[in-house]
Amino acid sequence: MLFDLQPKTRREDLYDREEKLREFEDALHLGEKLVLILGIRRLGKSSLLNVALSESNLPHAKIDVRSLYFTHGSIPQEMLAKRILGSLISSLPPSGKLRLGMIEALSSIKGLRLSGVHVEFEKKPDLAEILERINSWAESEEKRVVIAFDEAQYLRLSGVQYDGLIAYAVDNLPALTFVLTGSEVGMLHDFLGLDNPKKPLFGRYAREITLERFSREQSIDFLERGFRELGIDVSPPELERAVDRLDGIVGWLSMYGYLRGVRKLPEKDALNELFHRAEALVKEELSSLLSYSRRYGLILKAVAMGNETWSEIKEYLEFKAGRINDAKFSLLLKNLVKYGYLDKGARGYSIPDPVVAEVVKK
Ligand code: ADP
Ligand code: MG
Repeated sequence: MLFDLQPKTRREDLYDREEKLREFEDALHLGEKLVLILGIRRLGKSSLLNVALSESNLPHAKIDVRSLYFTHGSIPQEMLAKRILGSLISSLPPSGKLRLGMIEALSSIKGLRLSGVHVEFEKKPDLAEILERINSWAESEEKRVVIAFDEAQYLRLSGVQYDGLIAYAVDNLPALTFVLTGSEVGMLHDFLGLDNPKKPLFGRYAREITLERFSREQSIDFLERGFRELGIDVSPPELERAVDRLDGIVGWLSMYGYLRGVRKLPEKDALNELFHRAEALVKEELSSLLSYSRRYGLILKAVAMGNETWSEIKEYLEFKAGRINDAKFSLLLKNLVKYGYLDKGARGYSIPDPVVAEVVKK
């Protein structure tokens, strides 16, 4: 169903991502080591990743780094190792030859106890060793193994140098491909440091698959198809109004479709409910940023209210929260761009998501 609220897992539920799926397939086919799936929140990165992994038919591990981070307050190596192994084993057919072979290959890792897909360590695991074992197994099976980190920028919030580990794997473990998604595109780039001579991944090549919002036509077509799938008639002007408010952001469009088509709310109530849910979601997403400085919220509000230039935004901020020096202010703006909350264009700053803009304006 197009209007499902969960990330998609099947190609037939994925609207217009054929080209991106092809790119992903192509990267795997060429044996590329590092693939990035980028784009602001709710453009369908996790959905694309799910479908791409399941269609690849390759052994793979997928780790939701954001939820791991929020559960543990950091990304402990042991948790990451458990998730990688558990997910990898689950991706192989139960009691098939491949799964048994992989378990056999992993069983020589010191301190590791496997029962089914349940993973325990008796002592602190060595992730590099684990990746080496996976790589050797993959080479012996002549297969590629994909290790995917969803919202990978959270890997940077940890005492462990995961960038160094990935660099080691990229250089030395040829049967592994790492796929990293990121909503906070600037943060992910900073973490990887492909252009930063001081970072371990400096100079490595990464295939970047960037998701964009749907065009207006695509957005209308997406809604039409979704409603048709549910056997519901929705008038063209209503579709236009929905796209006016939600733009081509598939996460919001499918939520609207769900509220209107599955929950069967009238147009106005569906939009109200959507903005109500969006408010909770966006506040939650912004909460850690706001705990650093409430000025982040005021800057977003300034931009949402139509202030575009550096000085207009600063003036608003100082009016609300007192003086701030230029360097500090510029840093806050730069961070908001890195986190994906602001775009910087020729005219000035803007909020890429109109629903977020409405929420922060309140
Ligand atoms: P992201 O990971 O970029 O934040 P998700 O994959 O979680 O985005 O998608 C957000 C919402 O949009 C989910 O409800 C998902 O089902 C829906 N969605 C994403 N991409 C598509 C698509 N191509 N076609 C239909 N629905 C999609
Ligand atoms: Mg996601």
